[in-house]
Formats: sequence, C-alpha cells, structure tokens
Amino acid sequence: MSRSLPDADVAVLGLGAMGSMTAWQLAAAGARVIGFEQYGLVHDRGGAGGESRLFRAAYHEGAEYVPLLRRARDMWIELTQASGRPLFTPTGCLSIGRPDIEPMRNVRASVDEHGLDHEILAPDELTARFPQHAPADGEIGILDLAGGMLRPELAVLTAAERAREAGARLMDRTVVSAVEPDSGGVTIVTDERTWRVRRAVVTTGAWVRELVPQAAVVPKPIVLTWFAPSDVEDYRPDVFPAFIRDTDGMHLFGCPVMDGVSVKAGVADVWDPLRDPRDLTRDLPEPALEPVTAAVRRLLPGLHPEPIRHGVYMDGYTADRTALAGPVPGAPQLIVLAGFSGHGFKMAPVFGSIAADLALHDGTSFDIARMDPARFSRAA
Ligand SMILES: Cc1cc2nc3c(=O)[nH]c(=O)nc-3n(C[C@H](O)[C@H](O)[C@H](O)COP(=O)(O)OP(=O)(O)OC[C@H]3O[C@@H](n4cnc5c(N)ncnc54)[C@H](O)[C@@H]3O)c2cc1C
Repeated sequence: MSRSLPDADVAVLGLGAMGSMTAWQLAAAGARVIGFEQYGLVHDRGGAGGESRLFRAAYHEGAEYVPLLRRARDMWIELTQASGRPLFTPTGCLSIGRPDIEPMRNVRASVDEHGLDHEILAPDELTARFPQHAPADGEIGILDLAGGMLRPELAVLTAAERAREAGARLMDRTVVSAVEPDSGGVTIVTDERTWRVRRAVVTTGAWVRELVPQAAVVPKPIVLTWFAPSDVEDYRPDVFPAFIRDTDGMHLFGCPVMDGVSVKAGVADVWDPLRDPRDLTRDLPEPALEPVTAAVRRLLPGLHPEPIRHGVYMDGYTADRTALAGPVPGAPQLIVLAGFSGHGFKMAPVFGSIAADLALHDGTSFDIARMDPARFSRAA
C-alpha cells in the first residue's frame, strides 16, 4: 500500500460513547473517516450499556465542567430533535447530601458561579416534595433543572447513523489489534488487513491500554440494578427526577421509571478494578449485590430492595477521576479520549467535537488542560 494514499484522514478506534460521537463530528466536518468496533455497535459490556444515563449540569465533580456540560446539553437537544428519538428526557436531577460535603459544595459552586437554574430544598422541603427519598439528618436537596436522562444505546446508534450519512465507513465486529504511529501517519491492524490514516482517535474505553499501554487507565466494573416500586406512579419521570445522593459513605444514583415498571439504582465505588477488561464477570451471585440492596433498603423505602434484574458494565478509570483527552505523549498523530471514570456519557457529544477539532485543527476552544494525557507521566 502506498503511504502517500491513506485510507482515510482519521480513524476512530472503538465506537462506544466517545467513538460514535467523534466519528459523527469528524464526518460532519467533511473529513474522510473510518471507524472500528470490536463488538456490535450496541453491546452490553462497555460504557454505553444499561438503558439510561444521568445528565447533570450542576456537577459533583467540579464547577469547571459546566461549560462542557452546557455545550453537551445543547448538542443532546439538537440530536434529539433532529433524530426524532427520545435521546434526552428533561427530568431535572436532584442532588442530596449534607451541604458541607465536597460533592454538594461543588454542586452549589456550579449553580452559583454559572447561573444554572436550580432550587435549593431545605431538609423539610426535601421530604415534603420528594418523600420517595428517606430523610437523613441535615441533608438538603439541590434540584438542577437542566438535568435529565439519556438513552445510551440509542444515542450510540444515532451518532453512528449520522456519521454514516455524512460518509464515514464504520465497521463493527472488527477488532483493532495494533495501532502504530510514525512520522507520516498511523498504521492500524485488524484481522482483515492493515489500514493507513493520517491521524487516529483512540476511544476504546476500559480497553484503552491494549492499544495505548502508556494510558493511565484501569478497567472497573459498574453494576446497575433495577427495582420494583410499591407504586409505580410515584416514580414517573414527571414526579421523580434523576438523583445522586451521598449519605453515610454510600454513593447512590438512579433514575425514574423509564421502562414502565422499574426504577434503576446503582452504587458507585464498591467494585474492584479488573486486571484485564476481558475478565469481566457478568453474572453476579446475590451477595455481590448487597451494597446496593443495603443502600436501597435504607434510602429508597418505596422500592422492594431485592433487585428484579442487574447488569454489569465497564468504564476506564484514572487515578484523579479526570479523563485523558489529547495527543498521546510522544505520538501526536494519536489522540486519546478515555478514562471517563464513571461520569463521561453525558459529555460524549462535546468530547466528539473536541476530538474532531484536535484531529483536524490541532486545538479546541474548550479548556481541557487538566485532561492532558501527559500529566501522569510527568508526575511519575
Ligand atoms: C454502568 C455505568 C453507568 C454509568 N452512568 C453514567 C451516568 O449516569 N452518566 C454519565 O455521564 N456517565 C455514566 N457512566 C460513564 C459513561 O458511560 C462512560 O464514561 C462512557 O461511556 C465512556 O465512553 P468511552 O467511549 O470511553 O467507552 P465505551 O462507551 O465503553 O466505548 C469503548 C468502545 O471501544 C470498543 N473497543 C475496545 N477495544 C477495541 C478494539 N481493540 N477494537 C475495536 N473496538 C474496541 C469497545 O467494545 C467499546 O464499544 C456510566 C458508566 C457505566 C459503565
């Protein structure tokens, strides 16, 4: 193959949340794009499985995310309207916790510094308005009116369709086994053949170290569980917003009834990292679900605490829970977007546009300095 005739301008490796949006944004910008996904375009192992994702603009992780979240929300609404599909459902998102804990201070800073629409609910107001949540001493609610629910599988499919309509060639069930940057571009190896492109964006999530070993990202399972309410009417999206709660060391998140019968809830930070993402066990014994059943029993008394089903998915985590977004150290032809650490889905469209700008124009107007992939090697 002649090195002067690349197969595409940009290849996107991994077509989950970030990859599907990146392929769409690149193709929409007029680039020649190829993309590869090891499984089907929708699957249940990575970050885009499990039927629903929370969107929050008032951010536990820090007010500095708000400009990204605002742009992401606009993009979700545009994609929802353009596709005619229910990708984003505005339900609001209720944060619950004591006002002095760090996540609640960050939510408060987000709404104050960026003028986000919100309501602050004192303990008695919280209980009167949302009796579905058991009260705990001194806890308040902050209702982020920009919050809502996303449909991850449908969103990935829709972005991939958009990319294809704009001319991208996306191949599913195609494993990338190696990516080799050199001064003239990037060679990509799949079972079928090798491909030559000018730039590549690596969006392989929890699997990222298989292709970029220097990426400081570990695969971690996240378990989702669905519970039956005593009265399903109390958990409809118009009366029960998406929520995220920190109480007595438990971090519980969930969303209203989206399937007509069950409420999804999960706990974060109780599952150990995996040595190898291919070791993911998806069928869990009942005792493994005890942390979430305990949290539901204590904090959501209107739900039967035995889950009616569960699913096991994965995301890539960094040590500081902040993504890697930018050129790979020592290989500027490779852009990496990974390590979204359990909170990236809501930002996928804006990171797709950032990756497209990095790959095509070497820069972005968003401040992503703190996501520099080189920060861990510098620290080491
Ligand atoms: C259960 C769960 C709940 C979550 N809840 C929320 C939430 O409520 N709100 C929120 O904002 N975020 C949430 N997150 C986080 C968010 O979903 C992730 O941060 C985001 O999906 C990560 O996107 P990604 O593109 O990096 O990874 P993924 O979406 O996992 O995509 C990576 C893709 O690369 C493919 N791939 C890997 N290796 C190869 C290879 N060698 N060749 C070809 N393809 C390959 C994979 O098959 C996969 O499809 C949650 C995550 C999980 C797991």
